[in-house]
Amino acid sequence: QDQHVIMDDTAMRRALTRIAHEIVEKNRGIDNCLFVGIRTRGIYLAKRIAERIADIEGKPVDVGELDITSYRDDRENGRLTEAAGESTACLENGGQPISIQDKKVILIDDVLYTGRTIRAAMDALMDRGRPQLIQLAVLVDRGHRELPIRPDYVGKNVPTSKLEEINVSLTEFDGSDKVTIIHH
Ligand code: 5GP
Ligand code: MG
Repeated sequence: QDQHVIMDDTAMRRALTRIAHEIVEKNRGIDNCLFVGIRTRGIYLAKRIAERIADIEGKPVDVGELDITSYRDDRENGRLTEAAGESTACLENGGQPISIQDKKVILIDDVLYTGRTIRAAMDALMDRGRPQLIQLAVLVDRGHRELPIRPDYVGKNVPTSKLEEINVSLTEFDGSDKVTIIHH
């Protein structure tokens, strides 16, 4: 098992700053945008990008949190978790439910792989209203998509084999900022 650093703290900082600028450019500002971070690390990334945009544009960006842990459709029992009655997809901001109606929703996650998590996230959003559009930002795209999903904003494209795994460390949760690739 060997492990290589593919993004250090400086590279991560620059990538998030670039993504912040790309989001502002593509959306011609930030009006009506809502960031939705996906469960653990996507939420910290969403908050960081939102902070940068607040600096660039001089106005705050709303950040919501989406936990789709039990919403995936490919768990071992092979059943839709929703059908199993345990859909707990929960979109909130500091415990307050937030509306996505007519918003430009920017989903943010750490790693994009098969696309199933993002598909589940989009399902969870659509259950809550009709967004004007949905975009996707990820820190790392490691390939191997199983669904027609592509990110609008990418920190780093990292072609991986299925034997490799990406490890994302974020200061808020892991004590330091880095991305490593582990070959099992
Ligand atoms: P997907 O649903 O696209 O197959 O996988 C994406 C989700 O699983 C993301 O929420 C991501 O956090 C996690 N994930 C998938 N592959 C990796 C990986 O190699 N490293 C990390 N850190 N997370 C992964
Ligand atoms: Mg995740």
